[in-house]
Amino acid sequence: MTPFQDSFGRSVTYLRVSVTDRCDMRCVYCMSENMEFLPKAEILSFEELERICAAFIRSGVTRLRVTGGEPLVRRDIGSFFSALGKYIHKPGEGGHLEELTLTTNGSRLSLHADMLRRAGVRRVNVSLDSLDFERFSRITRRGRLDQTLEGIRAARNAGLAVRINTVAMAGVNDDEFDALLSWCGEIGADLCLIETMPMGETGEDRTDRYLPLSTVRADLARRWTLEPLSLRTGGPARYMRVAETGRLLGLITPMTHNFCESCNRVRLSCTGQFYTCLGHEGATDLRRPVRDGVDDAELLTLVHDAIGRKPKGHDFVIGRRPDDPAAIRRHMSVTGG
Ligand code: SAM
Ligand code: SF4
Repeated sequence: MTPFQDSFGRSVTYLRVSVTDRCDMRCVYCMSENMEFLPKAEILSFEELERICAAFIRSGVTRLRVTGGEPLVRRDIGSFFSALGKYIHKPGEGGHLEELTLTTNGSRLSLHADMLRRAGVRRVNVSLDSLDFERFSRITRRGRLDQTLEGIRAARNAGLAVRINTVAMAGVNDDEFDALLSWCGEIGADLCLIETMPMGETGEDRTDRYLPLSTVRADLARRWTLEPLSLRTGGPARYMRVAETGRLLGLITPMTHNFCESCNRVRLSCTGQFYTCLGHEGATDLRRPVRDGVDDAELLTLVHDAIGRKPKGHDFVIGRRPDDPAAIRRHMSVTGG
């Protein structure tokens, strides 16, 4: 099969798959309080999702991240992980995965950590924006910090490497980055700070919350020794080592730093919409063709064509209102972070 390459010469090797739009939390930057979720019939079955993933793997996708919504709320999610796990490290005609990963809010991680390890997952990203119980529940609107902490413990006990994802929000959690760095050092996890992206209507104004990570980094550097690294893990984070803890600090800066020039990522939504850029509305429907019974060659032609149209970059601008034609109306939970 021909490997995926876009018109700017970027190879596409990384697929993020959202398995559900549903979630047991309603984080203020991600969802509105009263979300309407999609009817089940619109959501791809695990068989349909696996079929599409297999076609991508045959065409050179070697890293696959399962995300959502909250992937671990989908019933029988273990069967999907074990199906994908079969593609790990099996070079051959059908292609293979070098890495299978997960992004989760951690609420149900303690129930699934051993299953993930057995399926071949070796590292997970867990979202956690505060170590303060009350603040955590305010940000997530209905999350419980103790459950997420229990999930992180279970993941570490199961032998999974953990990266904590924290969305940096001015006036909300910007007084906690030192505490988060220390805590990550203690539990043996890496920390990744993420700039707020203007996606979807959340019922909150994100303009005041926006915090450029260049400022955060300069501030942290006054108290911590941050050694820049060239390490990349396939995603958009730029890493440095925190000398005092030995752990990594990653920064995802879609707003201040244009991370598009080296973008190798594409996304599949839980309804089979194929997105080649998080920051553009355009998508290619793969559900209809799959349900109409196209063969793999036809499916891959659609995917190759879409990748050929992958935009050079996004144009997020914080402060855009959802009714601004240039704003991204889609919630992050549709395509997954
Ligand atoms: N529910 C899982 C979780 O929270 O980890 C997976 C899906 S969630 C959409 C994936 C990541 O996107 C999370 O780390 C979350 O913090 C991040 N995210 C969601 N909305 C965002 C936004 N508007 N800007 C920046 N990051 C966002
Ligand atoms: Fe749910 Fe994750 Fe979105 Fe929070 S960030 S509402 S946990 S999908």
